[in-house]
Amino acid sequence: MTTGHGTRRRTDTDVVVCGSGVAGLAAACALGRLGLDVTLLDKQRTQPPVWKGEVLQPGSLDSLHAWDALGRLEARQAVRLSRLVARTATGEELMALDFTVLGGERPWMLAHDYSTILQCMADSLGPTVRLRRGALVKELSHDSAGRISGVRAVADGTALDIRAGLVVAADGMSSRLRRLAGIDVEPVAYDHRLLSFELPGTLPTDDEVSAHATDRGLVMIYPLPDARIRVYIQVRTDELRKVSPADLRRWCEGLVAQVPALAPLAGLLEVNLDRRQLLPVWCYRAPSLVRPGLVLLGEAAHVVHPLAAQGMNTSIGDAEALAARLAAVDLADGSAVDGALRGYENDRMTRIRDVHTMSHNAARMMTSTSRAGRVLSRRLMRGTARSRRLNYLTTYNMSGLGMRPLDRLDRLVQLGVLPDLRARSFAASHSPAHPAGGAAAQLRRAGRDNR
Ligand SMILES: Cc1cc2nc3c(=O)[nH]c(=O)nc-3n(C[C@H](O)[C@H](O)[C@H](O)COP(=O)(O)OP(=O)(O)OC[C@H]3O[C@@H](n4cnc5c(N)ncnc54)[C@H](O)[C@@H]3O)c2cc1C
Repeated sequence: MTTGHGTRRRTDTDVVVCGSGVAGLAAACALGRLGLDVTLLDKQRTQPPVWKGEVLQPGSLDSLHAWDALGRLEARQAVRLSRLVARTATGEELMALDFTVLGGERPWMLAHDYSTILQCMADSLGPTVRLRRGALVKELSHDSAGRISGVRAVADGTALDIRAGLVVAADGMSSRLRRLAGIDVEPVAYDHRLLSFELPGTLPTDDEVSAHATDRGLVMIYPLPDARIRVYIQVRTDELRKVSPADLRRWCEGLVAQVPALAPLAGLLEVNLDRRQLLPVWCYRAPSLVRPGLVLLGEAAHVVHPLAAQGMNTSIGDAEALAARLAAVDLADGSAVDGALRGYENDRMTRIRDVHTMSHNAARMMTSTSRAGRVLSRRLMRGTARSRRLNYLTTYNMSGLGMRPLDRLDRLVQLGVLPDLRARSFAASHSPAHPAGGAAAQLRRAGRDNR
């Protein structure tokens, strides 16, 4: 129902979702599929091209398939990536995660640029979802009992007063709604940034994410559709401050000398130096995900280092988990909604913590620039490569299909201090060719993972 009041418009909707990044779009897709009336708002009129959020994990592909977005991505030539390989600066393999061992229908990662992923999701929104761009959400509104009951926004000079059974705050890292709801986070900046390049061309291996652990930190390379290559290079926070074009060229030569694996791309890197993007990397977890009438999703709630490609995937997982909790709830019944939100928080906190720990450990392993850190990291990676069980679990945990965190004994096996005593029982009970989805399905059935 919409009534006009001068330049103020009042709207009622089941759910108002603030932010149409991957978290907001995933929420709108999932809640729209429940038949809920969803109003999706974003302050930006168009999605600016930003070189982040490109690799989708197998666990997200099932959701995108259910929302009809996967077919759109495939039609736009999204690239299937079957392996994530940790390599040295010269390209020698340290550890390879092979996603095909997971079995199931889609044992691969899928890559496209963030704008295209968002566009495919926006094109898949159901008939009960309205997306309004250019609408800046400014405030939360509350009912007489103090419960959050909607938002106030501004679009094209018109104030919008939107009342909703649920407010979804998917407004990203610097979430205004999180602050207005009184949920504080303590962001921690990593001691480096990622310099991102988009190069024209193809790679000799077109189904691999290569992550090079080098003396200067992480260098990551993978293919994108339309004959493009993504390169991320770890830089110190002050490394490229106030550099002249001549300094930049020298920096590029030094980089290629330090990381010989980049040599085939040296010419392309040099001519694309002016088109670089510099992205800071942070991590945090909100201490609470809900308030009566409001839920935080995506980077409003959690941010991890991008190395393990978990950000979008956790956002999509958030949306699925929220929809599962709301499936049988009347959105007009505030106490039922708030009960579902508490259940949602309970469901997600452990998973978010585990993704956070895994991403941080992976980032430390690949970005460490101290000598001791690099030696330890290589030992851990080689130890993981030696154990088929640990290699499998690492792949499974990254895939988004489930989570079985490594424990202390696993760490000792990785370090080569203990033999892998669980290897035999793992080999006996796990077959990659298992008819019901392979070993991943067996892990889930065993109930030992945090979904
Ligand atoms: C270098 C880098 C590489 C990455 N690579 C990967 C990867 O390969 N795989 C992966 O899974 N993740 C990756 N990530 C993480 C991923 O990009 C994020 O997790 C994801 O984009 C978060 O989505 P979001 O919807 O929460 O936030 P955002 O994408 O930031 O969306 C927030 C939206 O809210 C809108 N908004 C903000 N405030 C308001 C307001 N007041 N009113 C209305 N609208 C508002 C914004 O306009 C924006 O559209 C990477 C991150 C970085 C930095």
